[in-house]
Amino acid sequence: MKYVSGACKSGFLKSIAVASIVFAAPMSNVVAGVTDADIANDAKTTGDVVTHGMGLQGQRWSPLNKINSKNIGKLVPAYTFSFGGEKMRGQEAQPLVHDGVIYVTASYNRVFALDAITGKQKWQYDHRLPEGILPCCDVINRGGALYGDLFIFATLDALLVALNTGTGEVVWKQSLGDFKAGHSATAAPIVVEGKVITGVAGGEFGIVGKIRAFDAKTGKLVWERPTIEGHIGTLNGKPNGMTGKLNATWPGDLWKVGGGAPWNNGTYDAETRTILWGTGNPAPWNSHMRPGDNLYAISTLALDPDTGKIKWHFQYTPNEAWDYDGTNHTIPFNKGGKKYAAHADRNGFFYVLDRTNGKLVNAFPFVDGHSWASSIDLKTGRPIEAGKRPGDPTKSADGKKGTVVTVSPSFLGGTNFFGMAYSQNTGLFYVPTNEMGMDIWNEPITYKKGAAYMGAGFSIKPLNDDYIGAMRAFDPMTGKKVWEVKNGAPLWAGAMATAGNLVFYGTPEGFFKAVDAKSGKELWQYQTGSGIVGSPITWEQDGVQYITVPSGWGAAVPLWGGEVAKQIEGIAQGASLVTFKLLK
Ligand code: CA
Ligand code: CA
Repeated sequence: MKYVSGACKSGFLKSIAVASIVFAAPMSNVVAGVTDADIANDAKTTGDVVTHGMGLQGQRWSPLNKINSKNIGKLVPAYTFSFGGEKMRGQEAQPLVHDGVIYVTASYNRVFALDAITGKQKWQYDHRLPEGILPCCDVINRGGALYGDLFIFATLDALLVALNTGTGEVVWKQSLGDFKAGHSATAAPIVVEGKVITGVAGGEFGIVGKIRAFDAKTGKLVWERPTIEGHIGTLNGKPNGMTGKLNATWPGDLWKVGGGAPWNNGTYDAETRTILWGTGNPAPWNSHMRPGDNLYAISTLALDPDTGKIKWHFQYTPNEAWDYDGTNHTIPFNKGGKKYAAHADRNGFFYVLDRTNGKLVNAFPFVDGHSWASSIDLKTGRPIEAGKRPGDPTKSADGKKGTVVTVSPSFLGGTNFFGMAYSQNTGLFYVPTNEMGMDIWNEPITYKKGAAYMGAGFSIKPLNDDYIGAMRAFDPMTGKKVWEVKNGAPLWAGAMATAGNLVFYGTPEGFFKAVDAKSGKELWQYQTGSGIVGSPITWEQDGVQYITVPSGWGAAVPLWGGEVAKQIEGIAQGASLVTFKLLK
């Protein structure tokens, strides 16, 4: 099976050129601006959610407890807002809410602004997508950032777009790369001290990953940090040093098309003034072509927010061979006065790092059946591999296909982009996990602009008869699994923990669920009408706590999930936002 060429041919990508329509609200609709202080304090302030991750640390934690494990039975929908038309597909966003208005992105790069309490639409922005975009995994978007009177989000044709929050009109646009060469963008940007920070996707096309900071007000580029060694960064339009050392961990010229796409959003730790951003697979997938560790792919990079310089890095899977992108969030948390960061990787291991220097503190498997490596060496941080690399095709009889290996996790990951949650009350991380295996093999490949650059084929399959997904609670310091709730389909949506002793998450089967944060006991669920792949938020307005979650099935699993996708092909599409409150 060819990974990306299949996506280009599939029908949903042919119908994406749409008219750009802006329903302008009256100009009297003046919006109070989001300040740097609002962003810095977002995790503590309960009247709004102005950042992806519900705070720049990305803990997806709320101190609100008006909705709690005692009264959750009275949680009912306040309204359902439809994203409308025939444009369904995956709804992977996390909404934002400020000053009584919800801002949410939807599939096909649409943006909606709604009255947060009634669901009445204020405006809609439809981004005009050109023919020939090359997204890997559905026409999704994961959300935006708020700054001043701007809502800033990234598009499938690799633009960063700032809209006026009062009217939905475009204020500025910036390029993140040539979409014809495979650049695209789906993650929510973050704003750090007036700079909007974003990565770019395209690791399956041999792009070179870049993390960039733009002046959030004007869109002017401030700094740019390539994620692959040998490439030169910039600061204020001038060269600002090479990433790593040329050919230290890459052979020949392959670093020039080396991938490392930082396609998910990062987090920010104000205590150490550090941006933490994950990078994707080295390109191509065929690891035999690029002996060496292939820095700084498959790593968390710790960046200086002023200059984009790399302070430290931690690489999860050296000379990566299974598409275990290291792009999942790296989440700062403190314990016993120490500064840590947690990262549940696609490779099935949960890592705790000292976030002052990137040193490994703890690592443990968070999925069963992880067969590519037995454990992580806590001294070196390197995996103890189990001899499960797909074979070198140049050593096969016909030189065309290397030995097939069966390995888990699959490249869809023990978990993925959607974000685990951290409870400041229980000290536990809540991880939406999946147990899938894959057959994977390598093939010869040469780089061609705009063509899939993988040198691999695969087939994904379930590992267990009774479940694929499992919501799990872990103590990060001991690695103890405190509880789990199994799920038939793979979980593909973000978690949220609250001081109401609750953990919320959505399932592909359509249920939005609340469980007891301490015990995992299932307390409440609501059928949203389609599979959930987006992330919930909670906030309060006029003394009432609300919870909002997008619903709409799609994204990577049905496209690439092989036997898993077949098993769940009956799930209905949809495209809506559901807001809940307690029955009086
Ligand atoms: Ca807030
Ligand atoms: Ca990848």
